[in-house]
Amino acid sequence: MKLERLTWPQAERYFKENDMVIIAIGSIESHGTHMPLGTDTLIPNRLLELIEEKSDVLIAPTIPYGATQYLSPFAGTINLGPDGLYTVVSKVVEGLWSHGARKIVFLNGHGGNVSTLEKVSLELDQKGGLGVILNWWLMAWDLNPAWKGGHGGAEETAGVLAVDPSLVDWDALQEMNLHNDVTENMTRTGFKNVEYKGVPVVICRKVTRFTNNGWIGPDHPSKATEEWGKEMLQTTADYIADFMEELKKAPIEAEK
Ligand SMILES: [Zn+2]
Repeated sequence: MKLERLTWPQAERYFKENDMVIIAIGSIESHGTHMPLGTDTLIPNRLLELIEEKSDVLIAPTIPYGATQYLSPFAGTINLGPDGLYTVVSKVVEGLWSHGARKIVFLNGHGGNVSTLEKVSLELDQKGGLGVILNWWLMAWDLNPAWKGGHGGAEETAGVLAVDPSLVDWDALQEMNLHNDVTENMTRTGFKNVEYKGVPVVICRKVTRFTNNGWIGPDHPSKATEEWGKEMLQTTADYIADFMEELKKAPIEAEK
């Protein structure tokens, strides 16, 4: 059930009987040369379609943009930043709360959104509500370790193949092409870290210092298949539908 398709009396009826809403938060950002900028938005939207088949929890319209400062130099990447994302998410949550939502489930598509979603969730907790953050790509790892992957790698490529195989531009796929940008003895690892003499150190910087294509890996996109993506998204959606049934039982402090 999608909020945007309801009339206001239908929404009023929903919130009289229910206090849970699920909302996806995505990102528009580079995912290597072979994948669409909307990868982190398209995959959660597909998950919501699958969740809707098994769950009666109200689905609020997706917020397609996120906080993606590290990738912002790549063409087409749109960065709200943590402050901009906080303003958007907290206003949407404020509106949902005013109509009776008390449990807000954030279906997150992008790691850079997590700190902002935690801030909003803690504010919900202080008001007596509950904010739940479901990072789909991490949940998929736990559901099947073989699905584990990094930014722009096979896991996300499989997810996009499940959305629409024509969205992956295989001819444009480049090798990872990462280099140590700080000093040659500081090994670049992940988005922010370098490792020097075995100790990881955080050095916040744009990823264009060490990649020219935005695929940060480590899993190779060529391993992805549509079948993998479909099984992964179905399994993750089924888990989320089941999780939200259980969450209905959680007591809530705040009066409606
Ligand atoms: Zn992503």
